[in-house]
Amino acid sequence: MRTQAIGVVVVVLSIVFLSASILPTPTFPKDKLVKPVLRNYYTPDHYPSYQEITHTLHQIAQDHPDICKVFSIGQTWGWNPSTGQYDWPKEIWTIKISDNPDVNETSTEASIFIHWHHAREWIDPAFMMYLINKLVNEYYTNDTIHWIVDHFEIFIAPLSNADGYIVDGNGNLNNITPEWYPPAGGWRKNCRDNNGNGTFEITDKWWAEGEGVDPERNWDWHWEDGNDDPNAADYHGPSPFSEPLVQAEKNFIESYDIDAQCVLHSFSAAILIPWFYTSQNCPHDSFYRDFANHMALRTKIEGDPSQHYDYGRPDEVIGYSAPGGSSDWVYGALNKIGIAIEMEPTGDYSGDGFHPSTDKIATYCDDLYEAMIYFLEIADTKLKPPSEASNQPNAYIVWGYVKDSQGNPLSGVTVSIRNTVNGDVISTKTDENGFYMLNLGTLSNAYNSSTQFEISAGGEVQQFTPNSGMGSERIDLTGVVPTIAPNYIFIIIVLGALIAISFAKEERENEVS
Ligand SMILES: [Zn+2]
Repeated sequence: MRTQAIGVVVVVLSIVFLSASILPTPTFPKDKLVKPVLRNYYTPDHYPSYQEITHTLHQIAQDHPDICKVFSIGQTWGWNPSTGQYDWPKEIWTIKISDNPDVNETSTEASIFIHWHHAREWIDPAFMMYLINKLVNEYYTNDTIHWIVDHFEIFIAPLSNADGYIVDGNGNLNNITPEWYPPAGGWRKNCRDNNGNGTFEITDKWWAEGEGVDPERNWDWHWEDGNDDPNAADYHGPSPFSEPLVQAEKNFIESYDIDAQCVLHSFSAAILIPWFYTSQNCPHDSFYRDFANHMALRTKIEGDPSQHYDYGRPDEVIGYSAPGGSSDWVYGALNKIGIAIEMEPTGDYSGDGFHPSTDKIATYCDDLYEAMIYFLEIADTKLKPPSEASNQPNAYIVWGYVKDSQGNPLSGVTVSIRNTVNGDVISTKTDENGFYMLNLGTLSNAYNSSTQFEISAGGEVQQFTPNSGMGSERIDLTGVVPTIAPNYIFIIIVLGALIAISFAKEERENEVS
C-alpha cells in the first residue's frame, strides 16, 4: 500500500512539474494593448490656437479614457478682443495622463504638474501638445512611457494664460503686428483690468507694457520683492495670488498633492532651478544641480546632440532673479520639486525670440523631449526637510528587464537595490513586460559615485556604482528563477494532504492486519 501511494504521488508530481515547464511563456501584453488605430493629435508644424488645444485635449480624452481625462481647474478674466469686453472667460483645461484616470492616486503615486504662463512664449504650448501626443501614443509601445503613465500621475495645463495668448495672436504668426515681431516683442502678462475701467489697455506693444499682471510674479514666495508698477511687463499684481489663473493653479497643486512642478518659458535654452528670487543657493542645491545637469545632457540645440541647454539659478543663467515665481512657491512653501525650463531659441534678442518660425517648432520640441522624460522619471523623489537637505539622495534612474533563463520577460518579480555600505534598500515589482524602473533619489540616505550598490531579483545579483550614463543606468537581470505561482502552491498543498491521507490509511490497514 505504501509503495502504491508513493507511486501515485510521484506520477502526480511529475505531471505538475512537466506542465510547469511546458506552460506558455509570459507574453507581451503590449500586443493586446496596441489599439488598431493610433491617431496623431498634433503635428509640430504650426502653433496650436486656444480653440485647437481645447478641441484636441477633449478628443484625446474621448479616444483614450483608459489613460486620459480632461477637466478645467478654473477660468481666466475673460478679456475678448473682438467685443472689447470681459465677456469670454476661458477654461483652464488640464489633461491627466495616468492609468485609472478617474481615480485620484496622488497619495500613492508621484504626481507631476507641467504648465506655462507668458503669452508670447509660443513654443511652450506647442511643446506640451507634442509631449501629450507622444505620451498617449507611445504608451502602447514604449516601456519607459508605459511605466511612467502606469506608476505616476501626469497633469499638463498647456494654456492657462489663454487671454494673453489670444491678445498675442492666438498662435497665428499672421496675427503678430509689426510692432511685436520680429524679433522679440509680444504680449507677456494676463489681461487683468488694472484700473478697473472695464477695458484692457496696452501702452507699449514691444515692451509688453500696459494693464495685466505677470502670472510668474504673482505667487506668494518673496512676492513683495517683485515689480509694483502696474504698467510694467513684470507687474506682480495687487496681492499674492490675486489672479484667477494663479489661484486656480495654486489650489490644484495643493489639492492634488503635486510632487514635482515644471513651468515652461522661452527663450534662452536653459533648465532653471531655485532659488528664483535671489542669488543664494537653495538648501537642496546639490540635488537640483545634479538632476538639472542630467536633464541638460539630454537636450540638443538646433537639433545638434553635441550642444546642450544651460542650467542653474535664473541669476546665473539668464541674468536676473524672478521673485514671486511658481517654482519658488512649490519648492519654498511646499518643499516639493519646482523647476522652470526656458526653451529655445538660445541667444539674445536678435534671433527668433518668442515667435520662432514654424519650421523650427519640431526641432525645438524634439530638442527638449528626452530631458522632459527624465524629469518625469525623477518625479517620485521626495525632498527631505530643508534642515536635512545635505543628506538628500540625488536622482538616478536604474532600469532594465527581468527575464528567465530563456529570455522571456517575468512580470511581478521584486527587484531590489541595496546600498551595501549602509543597507538602505528600495524595491519595485516588474510590470507585465518584465520592465522595472527605480530612482536612487528615493533612498533614505545620500550616496556618491563611489558607493557600492547591489541589484537583485530572484536568484540574480549584480553589483554597480552610480557613475555613468547621464543619471541613469540600464541593468538587465536574466536567468532569474521563476517564483512559484500561487496555483502551484495550492497543488502542492493538496498533494501534501493526499500523501498524509494515504499514509494514514496505510497505517489503519496495517493495524487491522
Ligand atoms: Zn516666461
